[in-house]
Amino acid sequence: MAEQDSQDYEYREREIEDMSDQAFRFGEGRISGYSAAALGILSFFAVLCYQFPAWLTTADLRAVYDGEVLQKVLMVAMWGSLGFALLTFVLGKQRKLGAIGVLFTVAGFACGGYTVPVGEVEHQPLSLGLDWLILTLLMSVVLFTFLEKIVPKYREQAILRPEWQLDLFYFCFNHLLISVLLLVGNYFVATVFGWAISAQLQGFVQSLPTVVQVIVLIFCADFVLYWSHRFFHEKPALWKIHAVHHSVEHMDWLAGSRNHVVQMFVDRCLAMVPLYLIGADKQALDAYVIFAGIQAVLVHANVGIPFGPLKYIIATPQYHHWHHSSEKPAIDTNYAVHMPFYDYVFGTYHMPKEHWPAHYGTTKRLPRTFLGQLLYPFRPEKD
Ligand SMILES: [Zn+2]
Ligand SMILES: [Zn+2]
Repeated sequence: MAEQDSQDYEYREREIEDMSDQAFRFGEGRISGYSAAALGILSFFAVLCYQFPAWLTTADLRAVYDGEVLQKVLMVAMWGSLGFALLTFVLGKQRKLGAIGVLFTVAGFACGGYTVPVGEVEHQPLSLGLDWLILTLLMSVVLFTFLEKIVPKYREQAILRPEWQLDLFYFCFNHLLISVLLLVGNYFVATVFGWAISAQLQGFVQSLPTVVQVIVLIFCADFVLYWSHRFFHEKPALWKIHAVHHSVEHMDWLAGSRNHVVQMFVDRCLAMVPLYLIGADKQALDAYVIFAGIQAVLVHANVGIPFGPLKYIIATPQYHHWHHSSEKPAIDTNYAVHMPFYDYVFGTYHMPKEHWPAHYGTTKRLPRTFLGQLLYPFRPEKD
């Protein structure tokens, strides 16, 4: 078994070495080229958000950020894109990426640039979460790419690893849906669980210190998430939906974005049930949402931070990487989202000491396109 494990590791190391031609190295124009293109594209869409906020931005999120402060960020991004494009042209490589950056940035300037006045926004019941997409993408790229570079688990894995475009598409698609997800989730909890609201319970919860409220939220939410996740694994029809998430074969911060749209709606509705019933105060709820959001990305990341004894208390990358392993006995283990606690209780905990999986993905390979994966759960089995 030990020999098999070491062979698996060697295989994986070789597979990762094949990615080395995708790596970013200084002086090759790829870093500046991709930076120019990414900043240009994001800036262009950010300008559109300022031009059409009612249709392209999220009401809940608008309340949190300062549009005028973000215009300064936009200014830096637009000039940054042009600067990186210039560097790309000077280096004489990856000129196409530099040109994409210039094209989008110039289009952004033509649409009003970073000086579009920020005013009152007309309310729309539904809008695209383009602001949510741009802000989370920018923050995730900066934070998690940095972490994956300074404390990587698989050092040779390229940032642009296989299928990154597919997962980026999932990231964009699922983030744009935010206001539809929130609307459906709110409607679901209010109509199905409205009767279960207890003012007494909510009053008691709100009388607790904020830290305790957050812990209560984590325990209650994780119970619901553990069982819904387990059902998605154990019921064959549900598994075909959830298999899309497990079809990722290279783990990094972007990998967690791969979720079937049905899964997105079911997860959102179910995750809101405990939050709705517990009725914690806003501070505790905000803290929980931030914790859950960061953890959901971190557990997929190619990050080998040594968590020490903390790894037995909270869900870490190592813990969730085992959940994505395609090898027995890791299959169908580690269902919890926030803490391994319910896996201990219900007998599904799996975490070999200091050891990480050699392979990720599903035992049966899924289609490798967004559309193929969208239709996969609804197509009859071929064999
Ligand atoms: Zn799963
Ligand atoms: Zn996952």
